[in-house]
Amino acid sequence: SREEIVLAARGLAAGYGGGAVVSDIELEVRAGEVVALLGANGAGKTTTLLTLAGELSPTAGHVEVLGDDRNRRLHQRSRAGLGLLTEERCVFMQLTGWQNLKLGRGAPSDALAYFPELEPHLGKQAGLLSGGQQQMLALARVLAAKPQVLLADELSLGLAPLIVQRLLEAVRRAADTGVAVVLVEQHVRQALRVADTVHVMRRGRQVLTAPAAELRDNPEQITDLYVGRG
Ligand code: ATP
Repeated sequence: SREEIVLAARGLAAGYGGGAVVSDIELEVRAGEVVALLGANGAGKTTTLLTLAGELSPTAGHVEVLGDDRNRRLHQRSRAGLGLLTEERCVFMQLTGWQNLKLGRGAPSDALAYFPELEPHLGKQAGLLSGGQQQMLALARVLAAKPQVLLADELSLGLAPLIVQRLLEAVRRAADTGVAVVLVEQHVRQALRVADTVHVMRRGRQVLTAPAAELRDNPEQITDLYVGRG
């Protein structure tokens, strides 16, 4: 029902000054739902995510977060319960793992509940952790704050398959506690495994919206859409 929708984009368009890079974006995310935004490089996934976050302003349409459809900025949406992980790993490299966790809005123990394997490494400077550990730290910190909406941009960029799986599983677990999630992903198969709904983007527009379950057996269908086949 409409009440359950915690994040929506209605006729959304956005860009970087010289006109819209993405247009006519229609999206609804319910509590407990994982929505994956897929598409080739440059399709407009990051632009869409940053506009949902309030980092970019819409040039048309609007974003509705937790019933508020005003043009809120990221810091306002963060206070209202939105967590954002951008492509730049959101870790303070000079600080220790513990210090990173303590800078978050949540309890370190809640962060470690997601990734207990981090605990032995938290005394180290974050810059000395592996890329996977850094990303787990960043995700753990955001999830510990118990956001109602989580927006994550290419969490798994450049990371080993097992780490990708750990990260996406944690996202799924968070959703199962009621978080509404939007994931931008390059790993189509792994995204399909954790997502409920998939939006495929091409040249700034949605070319397919479908339940992930319908696409799991045929992920090639999605990559065909990236290039305009199928
Ligand atoms: P990627 O996986 O490469 O991040 P994407 O699907 O997330 O791809 P976007 O990053 O949203 O795509 O980029 C969409 C278009 O917007 C591209 O043509 C890109 O060149 C352009 N673009 C992205 N960031 C900026 C920026 N800061 N200023 C101007 N144009 C930008």
